[in-house]
This record gives sequence, structure tokens and C-alpha cells, in this order.
Amino acid sequence: MLLELNQLRGAREHFERRFAPADFDPQDEDYRVAAPVELSMDIEKVGTDAFRVKGRAVTQIEQQCGRCLELFSMPVDASFELRYVPAVDAETEPEREIAEDDLTTAFYREGSLDVIEMLREQFQLALPMKPLCSQACRGLCAQCGANLNSTDCGCRPSWEDPRLAVLKGLLNSDKEN
Ligand SMILES: [Zn+2]
Ligand SMILES: [Zn+2]
Repeated sequence: MLLELNQLRGAREHFERRFAPADFDPQDEDYRVAAPVELSMDIEKVGTDAFRVKGRAVTQIEQQCGRCLELFSMPVDASFELRYVPAVDAETEPEREIAEDDLTTAFYREGSLDVIEMLREQFQLALPMKPLCSQACRGLCAQCGANLNSTDCGCRPSWEDPRLAVLKGLLNSDKEN
């Protein structure tokens, strides 16, 4: 969805929008938007061509667990505040001055703000470093690959790193000498 910035009526405008997961197709590789996205945001014009955007987006995001590899969904409630400035051609335009506040700067193109792109970035920022279906996830059995959260495969924890076995052999031969 592209928001035409020159159609803003006042100096400040409020938006409420709901987006379907399909609005995010093709979806990102790292995660999937798994529920409608409720967006609420305020846009305020600052100076001649900059806009300050303050918003909140609520949805559910589906990811793959890093331990058991199952898909799981987690709630996301992302609040953000950004400054939008027109995208400039880096080769012809002089560099912009860094603004005095510490808002993240984003860019709009041809007079319109790409709301879906903005949401994608916010969701990316909300993703955990290590996605886990639960802190207590038991992961997969190193021997048979069974998901230990749902089954007790009965494999004995006797698996040993072959490199370690070599090392043990060396230690044993040391003793014999
Ligand atoms: Zn898991
Ligand atoms: Zn097993």
C-alpha cells in the first residue's frame, strides 16, 4: 500500500488500517505474517518535505523454532517512530545533514510512503535473535531426529563425538606407556 503524502489534508493525520497477511506476499524468508495486521499511526509534516511517523502495529508472526524446527507463532506489538525524507539520488544530490534528534530516518519515493515496506522493517526488528517455540523446547534427538517435545524416542544418550573418541584413545595409549 502506497500512501500519497501530498494528499495529507492537515499538518497531522491519523490512520487506522488493517492489512491481510496476503498483503505481505511474497513473504519474507525468515518469518511469515500469520494474522491480520492492525496498524494505527500518526503522520505529521515537518518542514518542507519531511514527515514524522509514529505508529503501532499488532499481529502474529510465524517462525521456525531454531531447536525443533517446528513452526510456531508469536504475538508482535511493534511501536515505532520514524522520520521520512525523500529518497535522493546519492550520485547527484549532496548528502543530507544528520538531524539533531535520534529518530531513524527512512525514505519515501515519488511522493509516496510504502506502508507495507515500513511494516516489514518493523517486524524484522521485532524478531528474536534465536527463535524458540518455548524456552523449554527440547529440540530434536541427535540420534534419530525425533522431536523430543512430542515423543520420547528412547535413544540412549550414548552418542559421542568421534573426535572425542579419538582423543580418548590417545589418552588410553598414553597410560599404557
Ligand atoms: Zn522448538
Ligand atoms: Zn532418538
